[in-house]
Amino acid sequence: MKDQISLLIDIQKIDQEVRSLNTKKQTLPDRAAALDQTFRAGRDRLEEERAGLEGLNKLHRERESELKAGQDRLRKARERLLEVKTNKEYQAILTEIETIEQANGRIEEEILVLYDRIDERKVALRAHEKEFEAIRADYEAQRRKIDEELASIDGALQEQKARFEDLVKNLEPDLRRRYEMIKARRNGIAIVAARRGTCSGCNMNIPPQLYNELQRSDQILCCPNCNRILYWDDSANGQ
Ligand SMILES: [Zn+2]
Repeated sequence: MKDQISLLIDIQKIDQEVRSLNTKKQTLPDRAAALDQTFRAGRDRLEEERAGLEGLNKLHRERESELKAGQDRLRKARERLLEVKTNKEYQAILTEIETIEQANGRIEEEILVLYDRIDERKVALRAHEKEFEAIRADYEAQRRKIDEELASIDGALQEQKARFEDLVKNLEPDLRRRYEMIKARRNGIAIVAARRGTCSGCNMNIPPQLYNELQRSDQILCCPNCNRILYWDDSANGQ
């Protein structure tokens, strides 16, 4: 029975390791999703900024062609000025020229303002693109780390599973069932040491008779309080 007890202790260690590996593994998708979200938000902001700049460039091109059309109109009006016959006609064309010049002037001013805004936005965009490259590098490194962590956890799980299979085939089926049942009811801990007269699972005192029996006996004994399987811990009990 002693070898069954030590087998159970080893199996429980594996179970606990598997539990902690799985707990760790469960946090990884959330961490990856949070990273993805931050990265996408940064990328979207940059896209919006690019679109904003492109909108200004488009407006700039439109104003440039409006100005060109205005300049054409001005040139034609000036040509007509050379062919006029009456003073009235001459005055009318002069007024038209003045109106066109005013309109062109407004467009020119707008183009200058646009030019400044485009320049500012280009500088800002370049800075943000540079910042984002650093964010991207950091994101990719962290994402890689998560993948590596996942691979390493999976590897460790495989290893523990193989060790478990190796050990469990030597465990008596009845004892295995009992172990699984207590494990399910006692939060994963089914076998605990009896140390200095107490159960290390629930910290209750073990009746002296049971304690003595544990020392001598070669049978499976359980804590009367928490029902976990008890084993005599030689090192802790000074033997
Ligand atoms: Zn107990």
